[in-house]
Amino acid sequence: MNVLVINAGSSSLKYQLYDMTTENVLAKGRVERIGMDSSILTHEVDRQPEVREVSEILDHTTAIKKVLDMLTHRKFGVLGSIQDIKAVGHRVVHGGESFSESVLIDQSVKLEIRKLFDLAPLHNPAHMMGISAVEDNLPDVPQAVVFDTAFHQTMPPSSYLYAIPTVLYRKHKIRRYGFHGTSYDYVSKRSAEFLGRSLSELKLVICHIGNGASCAAILNGKSFDTSMGMTPLEGLMMGTRSGDLDPAIVPFTINKEDLTLNEANSMLNKHSGLLAISGISSDMREVVEAMNEGNANAKLAFEMYAYRIRKYIGAYAAAMNGLDAIVFTAGVGENSDVLRKEVCKGLTFLGIRLEEARNAIRSSESRRITTDDSQVSVLVVPTNEELLIARDTYRLVIEQPEAASISQ
Ligand code: AMP
Repeated sequence: MNVLVINAGSSSLKYQLYDMTTENVLAKGRVERIGMDSSILTHEVDRQPEVREVSEILDHTTAIKKVLDMLTHRKFGVLGSIQDIKAVGHRVVHGGESFSESVLIDQSVKLEIRKLFDLAPLHNPAHMMGISAVEDNLPDVPQAVVFDTAFHQTMPPSSYLYAIPTVLYRKHKIRRYGFHGTSYDYVSKRSAEFLGRSLSELKLVICHIGNGASCAAILNGKSFDTSMGMTPLEGLMMGTRSGDLDPAIVPFTINKEDLTLNEANSMLNKHSGLLAISGISSDMREVVEAMNEGNANAKLAFEMYAYRIRKYIGAYAAAMNGLDAIVFTAGVGENSDVLRKEVCKGLTFLGIRLEEARNAIRSSESRRITTDDSQVSVLVVPTNEELLIARDTYRLVIEQPEAASISQ
C-alpha cells in the first residue's frame, strides 16, 4: 500500500511516497515558489539523477497535480496510475488542545484546524491549502493529519501553564503547546529500541537541534515538558530565533527603538539567535568554521548555543528525578560532533562519559557516543518525521477502513 506524505508551506510543498509494505521511499521531492513566476518542481527517485522542472504553478492544487503527473510520469515516475496512492498523510504544525493524536480528515477536523489559524498563522492556513489541493486531485483517497503539537498534550498543567492571569488561558488558550512532536515521538521509540529497553520505563531528554531547536523531557514514553512554548520562539537559542528572554525586553525595545509589533516579532524570529551573536550566519557549519578561524563572536555564539542546551538538560533531569539517556537529533544534533561535545562537556556530574572516537563517527545510523560504563547514555538518533506520518496514516486507514472511505 502506497502512502503519500505532504508537508505544505505557504509557497512550497514537500512530498515523499512510501511503500508501506517495506517502508521504502519510492520517490520524494518538493515544489518551490508556488504562486510566483518560475515555480520549481524537484523530483528524486532512488539512485537516479534529480529531475528539475520549471513552470508556472499558481496554487497548491496545480502543485499537487504536477506532483501526481511526476509520480506517474512514463520516464521519471514510480506509479502506473494515481489510483496506486491509497492514502495521504499531512504534517500540520498546530493541533492546539483539540488533537492529542493523529486523525483521519473529515469536515469536523478541517473546521478545528481552521479554528487554530490564530495560533499558527504562518503554518496552519498553508497546511489547509495542501489538504484542499489533495481533495481536488484525489477526491476518493483518505487523508490523515499528524500534528507537531499532539505528542506534547500529555504535559501536566504545571508544565504547560504560564504564570499569568488564568483568564488568558481560558479565553485565548495561551499556554505551552510545544513543537517537533512528530520527531520526539519517532526518536523516543527508536531510542528505546536502540537501548533494548521499554519506553515506559525510560527517562529521556531529547534534543531536536535543527534550524529550529527544542528539548523535551520524555518520562515513561510521554512528553513531560518541552522548551518551545505557545509558539516555536521560546526555549533554546536557534539559528535566527532568540529563544528564552525576559519578556520585559520586548516593550522596552519597542519603546527605545520605536519599533512596530511586527518589527519586534521579526527581530526575535528572524534576526536573533546564532545569526545575531555571531554576526556571521544562522548555519552552525559556518559559525563553527569561523570559530575555528579565530572569530571571537562566532565562538561566543557557539558557546551560548551549547550552554542553553546544557541548562535545559539539567533542568529536565531534575524535573524527572533522573535520566537514562540524552538523545541528539535533527540537522545540527545529528551532524555536529563539536556541538555535542560542547554540550556534554559540562555534564560530567550526571555520570556522562563521552567517548570522543564514537562521537566523531559520521553515520546515518543510530549510535551511542558515550563509553560503555557511562552512567547515562548519550545517543545520536536520526529523526524521520515523514516515516512517522506515513506510519500513522497507514495505521489509521487500516484500523478504520469505513471512516477512511467516508473521511472527506
Ligand atoms: P534541520 O532543520 O533539522 O533540517 O537542520 C538544518 C540545520 O542543520 C542547518 O541549518 C545547518 O545549520 C545544520 N547542519 C547540517 N549539517 C551540519 C553539520 N555538519 N554541522 C553543523 N550543523 C549542521
